[in-house]
Amino acid sequence: MKLVYKIYFIFLILFNSKIFSQEIKFYGEAKAGGIIIGKGENIKAAWLNNKPLVIDKYGFFIFGFDRDAKGKYQLMVKLKDKKILKYVYEIKKREYDEQKLLINQKFITPPKKELRRIRNEIKIIKEAKNKIGQLKTALFSKGFVYPVDSIRITGNFGVQRILNGRPANIHNGVDFAGNEGDSVYAITDGIVRLAAEDFYYNGNFILIDHGLGLSSAYLHLSKIFVENNQKVKKGELIGLIGSTGRSTAPHLHLEVRLYNKRIDPMTLLTIQQIE
Ligand SMILES: [Zn+2]
Repeated sequence: MKLVYKIYFIFLILFNSKIFSQEIKFYGEAKAGGIIIGKGENIKAAWLNNKPLVIDKYGFFIFGFDRDAKGKYQLMVKLKDKKILKYVYEIKKREYDEQKLLINQKFITPPKKELRRIRNEIKIIKEAKNKIGQLKTALFSKGFVYPVDSIRITGNFGVQRILNGRPANIHNGVDFAGNEGDSVYAITDGIVRLAAEDFYYNGNFILIDHGLGLSSAYLHLSKIFVENNQKVKKGELIGLIGSTGRSTAPHLHLEVRLYNKRIDPMTLLTIQQIE
């Protein structure tokens, strides 16, 4: 009887230690424009600065820091065995360069006849963006790939654009140089929320939902190979590089957001594998 009891006791310990693994793996970088992906088997809930994060059924969660984020951020994770883990991130203010560009004046002051079209396009984009965040599963669980074959960056994330001599918008993406017709790939699995043709500023472009509020957009394409609501895989060919919309030469503008937070795509693209 005594022996049986012992065996049972040992079994219980092994069993418990398997289920209640307290390990949380983190991927990414805590900095302005950075993103962190967390994964653990035993997570009940998590909060960033007391705001709840979504934990998907595989134990994935994600949080990020906007381009202009700074200061202290606290991540609190509650495990299923009620243990609480705390992590503090100190985000330093990040400085960004200026980039001077000369573009066609029609993209700075659009002609009157285009205003209705632009307003309509803004509405369509907003409707597509509103769907992002509804998907409560991390489709990015296999990590990320670069959206182009040869990596040559001509526009960094976050720079202050000076268009035709005047301060204009912030550059919220990364520009990859390329030739018209070069392949463009989905950076990770997702669902196409918008495959849009001939928009005034974005040209032909694709918006992909990766779950838990993460999205990526691919602008100025010459060709689009996907349609709305289509599922895509990491590395799948989705379009070709072009120079449609507000663009001065063939290139891919890749933009990443976590809900409304402006994320530096380069911090994601270094996460090539998630285990
Ligand atoms: Zn760009």
